Amino acid sequence: MKSIFWFILLLLTLPSLAQNNIMAGHIDIKSKQGKLTEDFTITNIITDNKELKFTLHKYLEVEKILLNSIEQSFIIDSSEQLYLVNLYKITLNRIPSKTDSLRFIVSGSFEVSNDSSKYNVESDFDLVTNYSIFRANGMSSWHPVIIQDSCERIDQCRRRKKIEYSIQVKCDDCQFINIGDVKPQPSPVNYKQTSSLPMIIAGDYKWEEIENIILINIDSAVQQKLVNETRKIITYYEKLLGIEHNSNPVYAKVEINKNLTYEFAFFSLPTIVFVNRRNNKKITNYGASSHELAHYYFGSLFVPKSNLHWFLNESITEFFSFKFLLHDGNTSKLSNKYNNLKAIKICSYIPFLKKINGFPFRFVRLDKIKHKDEIHEMQRYNISPFQLLAIERIIGEKLMIEFIKKLYANVSNNKHGYETLIQTLKEIGLEKKTIKKIERNYFKNFKLRKYKFVKELINN
Ligand SMILES: [Zn+2]
Repeated sequence: MKSIFWFILLLLTLPSLAQNNIMAGHIDIKSKQGKLTEDFTITNIITDNKELKFTLHKYLEVEKILLNSIEQSFIIDSSEQLYLVNLYKITLNRIPSKTDSLRFIVSGSFEVSNDSSKYNVESDFDLVTNYSIFRANGMSSWHPVIIQDSCERIDQCRRRKKIEYSIQVKCDDCQFINIGDVKPQPSPVNYKQTSSLPMIIAGDYKWEEIENIILINIDSAVQQKLVNETRKIITYYEKLLGIEHNSNPVYAKVEINKNLTYEFAFFSLPTIVFVNRRNNKKITNYGASSHELAHYYFGSLFVPKSNLHWFLNESITEFFSFKFLLHDGNTSKLSNKYNNLKAIKICSYIPFLKKINGFPFRFVRLDKIKHKDEIHEMQRYNISPFQLLAIERIIGEKLMIEFIKKLYANVSNNKHGYETLIQTLKEIGLEKKTIKKIERNYFKNFKLRKYKFVKELINN
């Protein structure tokens, strides 16, 4: 009996072992010289092609590629030098088998200068350093990503491919290295994970750990406050959604460009980074954290591939931030956002503004969206979260949560977002009449008078 049990267990485990590419190796960072080398070996290659394509961040260069220790020549497919990554091709004389090993030796340099105005930072996709900090985000492709020809778009291929990483990161001139969940520690750091590589932060900054929350370069005066606020937000979301928030957040404050007035926060599981945010009040007071912590559920563990991507990802997240703030009796963010609604409406009356292509104040009907980027930031973070709040007032909180959970499940099977949106409203049992009303008043229209209820919410 016992041996049958083990045999069945083996059968069950075998396919899952066979699924993933395994990427093992090490990364060496020389922070003060601005140098980076990577040496990875990929085994268990799954492809049906002699021509292997792979992408690599534009700041990195391939030094060598070896198949079973034999050097391979490669070309950069110049027709496809993309925004952040370069596309390379290697043609082999046969289709690689699962027992073959493919080794990449990659190096790169990044600028280290005291003139911070030189840094070129584009949101979370870049590879940058400033003074003593090095950061690289998982989405920035700072490691080779093997892709298959059959994918339509590179980002799709990257997500489809599962890679199991076993990587050691070393940085001799950094005080610590933090990779996602791994606590900051002096080098080297071993790292194992399936799915994309999260962010590496390596530098001389101080860090603390309070109640399992890691705080990198966060002023001691606000540390405990940030931790308390985080706990409060997580407790609220867990109760509301009935899903555990299985993560220990890492907060980091980084200064990227001293001359840059632009500031923002972004999220890359499980790290929340405040960039150029010097005002502590903007780090605490739930401002960014109530939004970023909701990303654990929406837009991080699962990223919807849909033309309504930004609605599903950012508007739902901001809706949850609104709900937390209302629950907490903290309405200043909502009243700012309500003022934005008014500004959007006023701008929509000015004819010449309407004609400017891509003008961010224009409302785009959700049923007419073809490409995800048609939903501008003003709509993502202002109009649509209020649409969701309005719908919740019609159908009640319980059905609203059911709707959002179902929507997220449904959208993975259908990339036509609007159809899925309406289908899901039907599935939660709404009458046709109610759905038509929601479509007419919110999804297909932007009428300021439909949001008067926000004023009541703010004043309560
Ligand atoms: Zn967001």
